[in-house]
This record gives sequence, C-alpha cells and structure tokens, in this order.
Amino acid sequence: MSPIDALVRSLPDGRVLTDPDVVGSYARDRTFVEPGKPLGAVLAATREDVVTTMRWASEHRVPVVPRGAGTGLAGGATAGDGSVILSLARMTAIRELSPADEIAVVEPGVITADLDRAAREHGLMYAPDPSSYEISTIGGNLATNAGGLRCVKYGVTRDSALGLEVVLADGRVLNTGRRTMKGVTGYDLTGLFVGSEGTLGVITSATVRLRRAPAAPPATFAAEFGSLRDAGAAVSAIVAAGCQPSLMELLDRATLEAIDDWRNIGLEPATKAMLIGQSDASDSQAAIERMERLCAENGASFVAVSSSPQETEELIGLRRMAYHAKERLGACLVEDVCVPRSALPGMIGAIEDVAARHDVRIATVAHAGDGNLHPVFIFEHGTAEPPAEVWAAADEVFTKALEFGGTLTGEHGVGLLKRRWLALESGPVAEEVQRGVKAVFDPLGILNPGKAI
Ligand SMILES: Cc1cc2nc3c(=O)[nH]c(=O)nc-3n(C[C@H](O)[C@H](O)[C@H](O)COP(=O)(O)OP(=O)(O)OC[C@H]3O[C@@H](n4cnc5c(N)ncnc54)[C@H](O)[C@@H]3O)c2cc1C
Repeated sequence: MSPIDALVRSLPDGRVLTDPDVVGSYARDRTFVEPGKPLGAVLAATREDVVTTMRWASEHRVPVVPRGAGTGLAGGATAGDGSVILSLARMTAIRELSPADEIAVVEPGVITADLDRAAREHGLMYAPDPSSYEISTIGGNLATNAGGLRCVKYGVTRDSALGLEVVLADGRVLNTGRRTMKGVTGYDLTGLFVGSEGTLGVITSATVRLRRAPAAPPATFAAEFGSLRDAGAAVSAIVAAGCQPSLMELLDRATLEAIDDWRNIGLEPATKAMLIGQSDASDSQAAIERMERLCAENGASFVAVSSSPQETEELIGLRRMAYHAKERLGACLVEDVCVPRSALPGMIGAIEDVAARHDVRIATVAHAGDGNLHPVFIFEHGTAEPPAEVWAAADEVFTKALEFGGTLTGEHGVGLLKRRWLALESGPVAEEVQRGVKAVFDPLGILNPGKAI
C-alpha cells in the first residue's frame, strides 16, 4: 500500500483529498509562487485527525504543510513536491468565550472577524485585525504573528496569545502557556510558536486575550497631502506628540489611483497621499483635533473628520480594499518592511527613489503608526517570476530598511519569499540557534520545510 493510501485508511472518510486538480487548489497562498505537486490534502476536523496525520508523516518521512485560509503573502503555505497539505480551515469552533476572564478558547480555523463579532456580543473585542480579517484564520494569524490596523494601539497577534495546543511533528500534543493574564512558568513556548510559520508544530487550539470594546464609536479623520514624505512627517509628529491613535494608515498616490480606477472615489490630481487616523480613547474628539492640527502643520492640503459611522466604515473600507485594487493591475510582490517610526519619512523617500531609479511600479500602503510599510511591486500578470528589475528594487528596499534599523518583515513572515535576505538581518549566530530550535521540535525536518528560517 502506498503511504498516501495508508493515510486515507487511517482517517475518517472524506478527510483526505488526492485528486491533483482539487489538491492544487489548496497548494498556494496569495503570492505568485508556483506550488509543486503535493501527494494530497488532509481536511482536518479534529485534533485527532492532526495527530494521526503527523504520526503518519513521521513514519513515512513526508513533509507536511499546515494551512489556514491561504491568504498569506510570503509563500508560507505553498506546498512542495511530495508533501501533504494539512488544512485546519474546518476546525471552526469557538470552544469558550469567558467575559469574566476576558479570554476565548478557539480552534485554528475560526475566521478572525468572526471571533471579534462573537466577543462584541459581550462588550469585548478581539483586537488583532489584519486587513484580511474577514478571510484569514486565527491559526494562520498566530503562525505569522499577524499585525493589522488596530495594532498601533493594541499590539500584534502575539500580544493577544496566552496559550496554545500544538501537535508536534511526531504527533505528541503540547500545551503551552496559560489562561491567566500573567505567568512565567518555564520558557515562553507560546511566544516561540507564534510567528513560527508552521515549522515547529501545528496549532490546534488557542487561548486568546479579549479586551473591553470602546464604549463609543471611534473618532476618525482623513488627511490629504501633496507629498508622500509630508504625510510620513505628519505620522512621525503624531507619534512623537503622544496622541496614541488606535489606527493610523497611509496610502500613496499609486494605491489611491488603483482604488479610484476600481471604485471611482473622485481622487484629486494634487493628492499624493492620504492618511487615515482614528482614536477610540474616552477623549477621542480632543485627540483627533490634535492629530488634525499636526497634519495641517506638516503640509496637509485637506483634513476632514468623519461625521458618521457609515462615513468611517467607508474610509476604513478604502484601506481594506487596497490590496485587491492592486491585484487588478498586475501580479504583486508585497513587501512588509518595518522601520523605527522616526525613520518613516526617510524610508518613504527611499522607496520613491528606488521606484524611480529602477523604473518599477511600486504602490505603498503602510500601517504607518507602527512604521510598517507595504511597498507592493506590481508587474505583468501571468509572469511566473518577478522580472530582474523588481528583485533588484526589492533588494534595495530591504537593504535600506535594515540601514534605518528596521526589519525585513513586520507581520507577513518570511515564508519562501524573504529567505534570500534573511542572513542580512539575522547573522550567522542567530541562524545557527534557530536551526537548533527547529531540530528540537522537528528532528526529521518534515514540518513546512524550506520556510521561515
Ligand atoms: C487582502 C489581504 C490583506 C492582508 N492584510 C494583512 C494585514 O493587515 N496584516 C497581516 O499581518 N497580514 C495581512 N495579510 C496576510 C495574511 O492574511 C496573514 O498572513 C494571515 O495571518 C494568514 O492567515 P491564513 O489563515 O490565510 O494562513 P495561511 O496563508 O494559510 O498560512 C500562513 C502561514 O501559517 C501557517 N499556518 C496556518 N495555519 C497554521 C496552524 N494552525 N498551525 C501552524 N501553522 C499554520 C502556514 O503553514 C503558513 O506558513 C493580508 C492578506 C491579504 C490577501
């Protein structure tokens, strides 16, 4: 019996897909990276399915590629030749939601926004909100340590992860962390698994922190600038002034044009950048007025405060549709550099300079309050690999981010796409230590090989 037949037999009916066309639809994420030819895909419905799959994979030395919703932007869920895809998307139970303890215990396939909506029924919220929060899973968010719009105030996914249940490479079940707000027993294994991109274990349950939802709707402003660098300077000024926004997003001209082309937002010719800011503090109106003033002092040509929840939704909607608008224009290499916030204007200038010198189309959005920029390199649809000038431009953007004291990836992870630059940031000692950690959890090297480190 072939190994894949043995897997089919050991799991309940319908759990394993082997038709190559169907399996292929589970083999890629949202990048242009072409997958190989996986043996099959397991649609796990229970922790036991995951345990069985990992025991089988260890016995037969088959690589396993864990997968949530496949919205990743780094090639992390791309399946290689001879691997088995392990989809957690069917494990969608919210097992517990405790208003008293302000926590939830969830399965990995829960869609992020669904957890947030469930928490809101109790006056709580699940804070991490990647732009993809209506389509990505908690498991994927944990595995990539996803960021999002509210991170500027509430932190990234790791800041909401209290404990995990993880199936290890050999099928053992490891429980990490706790359900308390504090705790220092042993090493921080929860922190280690968050952001490990499926290379150390498969997350089958998570205990996450919920927070009190703000009592009133947030106050929101939008500012337009005649120069992207001015917008970056306004963000630095807002951060330095201690305004503590709960959201601070920046869209450049190329991004606004892509959205305008799609949804006709009446973009003015002189607008080169838009900044959207929000405060959910109890004195939100005063905070917004300070931010408005700082925008005006830093060259904003127009600043307006949203007058209704519907207008606010529309503004935030613009930001959330940015990636989809760019995908219409071509294939996208989405980068994710993060720099110290004081370096934001300098990094923006560097990206503009790189785009001009390499004659490459770059459209940038930024979780600006975190210094996290997504320069999106757009190239022709149907091109298997980005052209040489795109790689050269990306190389310069990364180098510049590191020179500013930044990092290659703020929230998307390394996946396959950023491995070529890893050594620049990590250095040989950190790389060796990370390989050692990997060997402890996955001595056979079967968990998402070739990704993250
Ligand atoms: C339109 C759009 C907007 C986006 N905006 C943001 C944003 O604002 N912030 C942000 O951080 N990201 C953003 N992303 C990227 C993406 O949505 C996130 O990386 C998200 O966390 C991936 O979740 P997923 O369920 O799709 O995971 P997948 O893409 O399926 O997997 C991502 C990685 O996690 C691993 N993995 C998945 N589930 C598990 C599990 N249960 N156990 C172990 N490993 C697992 C996979 O092996 C892979 O390495 C965006 C993507 C799109 C398409």
